Amino acid sequence: MSKEYGQLNPGYRLLLGPGPVETSPRVLRAMSSNMLGHLDPQFLEIMNETMELLRLVFQTKNQLTLPMSGTGSAGMETVMVNLIEPGDKAVVCVKGVFGQRMRDIAGRCGAEVISVEAPWGRAIEPAQVKEALEKAGGAKLVTIVHAETSTGVQQPLQEIAEIAKEYGALFVVDAVTSLGGVELKTDEWGIDACYSGTQKALSCPPGLSPVTLGERAMEAISNRKTKVQSWYLDLSMIQNYWGKERFYHHTAPINMIYGLREALMIVKEEGLEARFERHRENSKAFIRGVEAMGLEMIAPEGFRLPTLNAVKIPDGVDDLKVRSFLLGKYGIEIGGGLGEFKGKAWRVGLMGESSKRNNVILLIAALADAMSQQGYKADLGAAIEAALEVYNG
Ligand SMILES: *Cc1c(COP(=O)(O)O)cnc(C)c1O
Repeated sequence: MSKEYGQLNPGYRLLLGPGPVETSPRVLRAMSSNMLGHLDPQFLEIMNETMELLRLVFQTKNQLTLPMSGTGSAGMETVMVNLIEPGDKAVVCVKGVFGQRMRDIAGRCGAEVISVEAPWGRAIEPAQVKEALEKAGGAKLVTIVHAETSTGVQQPLQEIAEIAKEYGALFVVDAVTSLGGVELKTDEWGIDACYSGTQKALSCPPGLSPVTLGERAMEAISNRKTKVQSWYLDLSMIQNYWGKERFYHHTAPINMIYGLREALMIVKEEGLEARFERHRENSKAFIRGVEAMGLEMIAPEGFRLPTLNAVKIPDGVDDLKVRSFLLGKYGIEIGGGLGEFKGKAWRVGLMGESSKRNNVILLIAALADAMSQQGYKADLGAAIEAALEVYNG
């Protein structure tokens, strides 16, 4: 018996979760362009342009700035496996799921891990990092998540970067949910290694992980006494493909790179400042709206991430029922809570193409509808008015 398979035709969804998010038709069209060989001169030029555009978005001059094959976690693993040798001390900041993941990977690389922790929903204090570095004595790196997608907290980086430098440690930043959505100045802030992902604020399908490493990080790699344990993620080999040598390492995911290049062009055309402002405005309107419905944000004011808005689920409202209602009646996807926040928070992604006024207004209305199904009475008129006031003054 053979099953009849229909032509692939996924239904429409409005993606307002933690990623993947909405993708511009321009990006999808770019991805369906003619296939080129991975050593074709035309493709090599596309690679060069992609690296240049990435430097612009990372705000860096770092030569080694390229997209790794794989999702954001591949970037995380790339930075860790290349910088850490067994026995190295790593100060790892943990305040959510993604900090935990960094700690896990650092441990797997054989690092002696020193954790610095903050309660979920809060940022790490610079003094905590200083204390850990003082105690550790000779830590090789400090790692931190800029935009903690599990809690919606935006971590201030500059002070911690200075402390890391003062102690001679490399400063490693996870910018998966910040790159292209909130300010991130790799060079000016003294970030030695940074990675991101394509399906968050860059608004591209998942599949690549842009990374950038500065001189101090490259020096640490060339001073390694042991080989990088991962062949696939070994940057010294990968840079021989992305650099002048063009040595084959692994086949580049051609169409993904087309898509990323187009997504980066869109960022460039909009302009970084304008893009950050758009994210701030839409997040602010959403927050004003849900607050007017009596909901509370997880992150305190001043630490709220515009790209990922984590909202507390009020007592008596069922997480799963609300999300199923949104998906079933509106075709809207939002994220549920992760880890400690499972069942306790909704994670609303307003990033890249998803960060739009019409999405904000629609989601506020849909959320009020979904909650009213469970007896939660929200003043929808007041919520819409509060959001509109952000746009219209
Ligand atoms: C999504 C995310 C990752 C992991 O990216 P994947 O694409 O899921 O592998 C890492 N860090 C942060 C902060 C993220 O939001």
